[in-house]
Amino acid sequence: MRIVQDPSELRAILSAHAGTIGFAPTMGYLHEGHMTLFRRAAAENTLSVVSIFVNPTQFGPNEDFAAYPRDAAGDIARTESCGVDVLWMPTVEHMYPTGHATTVTVSGVTKHLCGASRPVHFAGVATVVAKLFNVVRPTRAYFGQKDFQQLAVIRRMNADLDFGIEVIGVPTVREADGLAMSSRNAYLSLAERPRALKLSEALRLAGGLWGAGFGTVSDVRDRMLDVLRADDAVRVDYVEICDPSTLEPLDGALGSGSVPAVALIAGFVGRTRLIDNAVLG
Ligand code: AMP
Repeated sequence: MRIVQDPSELRAILSAHAGTIGFAPTMGYLHEGHMTLFRRAAAENTLSVVSIFVNPTQFGPNEDFAAYPRDAAGDIARTESCGVDVLWMPTVEHMYPTGHATTVTVSGVTKHLCGASRPVHFAGVATVVAKLFNVVRPTRAYFGQKDFQQLAVIRRMNADLDFGIEVIGVPTVREADGLAMSSRNAYLSLAERPRALKLSEALRLAGGLWGAGFGTVSDVRDRMLDVLRADDAVRVDYVEICDPSTLEPLDGALGSGSVPAVALIAGFVGRTRLIDNAVLG
């Protein structure tokens, strides 16, 4: 595996490659969720590239950029174990040299959910991913469904800005007890860990109710809120049931689960903000 920092060095390596390029961008502190993307990128392409970059522009002023967990040595070993060909670890100066003044904003799918709670987040994500795409020029790019709204933003940007990349959504990888894997799970104390399970529990409940055609969307949301708020387990940011392609909240009766829908949750367990989602039906 080659490890590079400088984007121009990466371009030189990739320009000599005639086959397909699979790419998985990350912020590091890697776990099985990331590694599932890496294995697919390596298996489905003649060359695989992973990036690790904790992108400052997608964090708000009171968010965890400085504290975000980092483990370069462990990440290098994990990436190599997946058969990845090139690991790109740029610095902030490489990505945002003095004078950088361009931002990519995606409207529509960013209106609700994390787009409403974290105002600068998706402009930061879209901008950095556009830059990463322009350096790597992948054939295929792999993103986790764990970040469902992010995946919608990337698909929209890819179509609107004519990147022509095949964007592949990979199902969420979970711990044995159901907790969605996340680098931020490292923040959870032993006492908080069981409280974090309430997110996946509420999503399983939603799936069951949706399949049974129980009541209305707002009934299902209320039942999910009951699970999350019991014993003050989770301080809820949002619970929504949305159209999976527009991410507009749905309303009204469920129609025996026949309507495509996704349930999405964000909430704080202690000081840790967690997100999770499940496609219903
Ligand atoms: P991050 O390092 O959190 O920015 O995530 C990098 C990529 O890994 C994104 O496409 C995420 O959606 C994906 N990812 C993170 N956690 C998981 C998970 N539990 N299962 C599948 N993909 C994930």
